[in-house]
Amino acid sequence: MLNKLTKTLLNSLKYLPPEQIAMVERAIRTAGAAHHGQKRESGEEYLSHPLRVALILADLELDGNSICAAILHDVIEKSKAETKFIKKEFSATVANLVDGVTKLGKIQLKKSWLPFVKPKKEELREFERQTETLRKMFMAMSKDIRVVLIKIADRLDNMRTIEALEKEKRLRVARETQEIYAPLAYRLGMGEFKGMLEDLTFPILLPQEYRWAKELAIPEMSSRRKYLEKVKRMIEDDLSRAGIYAEIHIRAKHWYSLYKKLLKHDRDLSKIYDLIALRITVPTIEDCYNVLGIIHSRWKPLPGRIKDYIALPKPNGYQSLHTTVFCLGGKITEFQIRTEEMHYQAEFGVAAHWHYAEQKKSIKLPKSKLIWVQELARWQERLANLDDLKEGLEIDFFRDRIFVFTPLGDVKDLPVGATAVDFAYCIHTDIGSHCAGAKINGKMVQLNRQLQNGDMVEILTSKRAKPHSDWLSFAKTALARGCIRKALRAAT
Ligand code: MN
Repeated sequence: MLNKLTKTLLNSLKYLPPEQIAMVERAIRTAGAAHHGQKRESGEEYLSHPLRVALILADLELDGNSICAAILHDVIEKSKAETKFIKKEFSATVANLVDGVTKLGKIQLKKSWLPFVKPKKEELREFERQTETLRKMFMAMSKDIRVVLIKIADRLDNMRTIEALEKEKRLRVARETQEIYAPLAYRLGMGEFKGMLEDLTFPILLPQEYRWAKELAIPEMSSRRKYLEKVKRMIEDDLSRAGIYAEIHIRAKHWYSLYKKLLKHDRDLSKIYDLIALRITVPTIEDCYNVLGIIHSRWKPLPGRIKDYIALPKPNGYQSLHTTVFCLGGKITEFQIRTEEMHYQAEFGVAAHWHYAEQKKSIKLPKSKLIWVQELARWQERLANLDDLKEGLEIDFFRDRIFVFTPLGDVKDLPVGATAVDFAYCIHTDIGSHCAGAKINGKMVQLNRQLQNGDMVEILTSKRAKPHSDWLSFAKTALARGCIRKALRAAT
């Protein structure tokens, strides 16, 4: 099986230059040796997993460094020696990507949140706060966007093989995918990945609802499909007469997004017009508007349902023309019209941009023009605005903040340069004012030690301990400094 997978992977890498393919072959050998004898929980050879992750990214035509990093992504366990080795054998980029993926692997939902049955209101709010922080942390810790792409592909493969896990773990991984990975994919404009991830979590998290939605929609879907085949042939004739080259696809809606739409419409399937969508892909933007005109001259559009996302893209960069018409036999039907590039962008978002930017070197988009950068910036702003007033509006959120864990797995965000003392006050003023020592990642450290992203920090307290004046020389947050000053004044 490994041989077959390796062959498939190498076959799908034809878009890469020969020296990069050679590097990928070396990565496969290195990972093969590292995972030798290791098995997945399903019992299959461990190496099959990283190979499949690489294949997902190869289908997106990502660069050789990303493919190598995907193959090596589970190789690093503890030692720095492995990172050094990867840097020497492959490249600094591959080493950084693998390192980033390993670090992101530490970001997990707290076990106690799962399974998540009928939470109280305050619990729900706390849960949302935690997951939002985790999403922020995820982005903040991945300086290179390719790290996130590898991690999303990694999660996709893990979800595809989730049946092998025991129930509790399966629930945790599915919930985490739902709360962290699918929203991330969405925000990065990777609609297809968001859809695939959600459809994999749906039967695990809401098995009864999943069955209900499927039983409700499947009969309607097959009759819709037959109907749309007829519509498709009519449109094809019209377009070829107009001399427009087009590809027309008939595609069913993802199950989870169908389910959410059903909830919005009183569980009434007849109100869902895009159960199966007709998607028309054409070479140019001009063609898009021409196709819209041709459809409207044949069938009357529903008022208020024409959406020009080409002139006014969605916040995540999505572009298309949508229209809903009284179609053949008076049936209400939605059409989506877009260029091939828009299509690729809609399905693969950031990855598409990355890919197009790499390929079309001649166009030379300045970095600030890349939509994913804008998208991230927009997302950042939105997140900053979501923060409650107490935390203030941090515009430079990602640059100036670090994220650390409590021993219970809660995430705290602190300014860059924050120390164990800041962390102690951040948990509770009493913990700060009785702070006697600190452990970072299990090791005792000086209180003035600066914390790093992803550190697990534990504070040791003692009743007799009290703030020292020299804490002011390294405490970073206003909260800690204020409390220390207050305590010192009270002592004199
Ligand atoms: Mn993995």
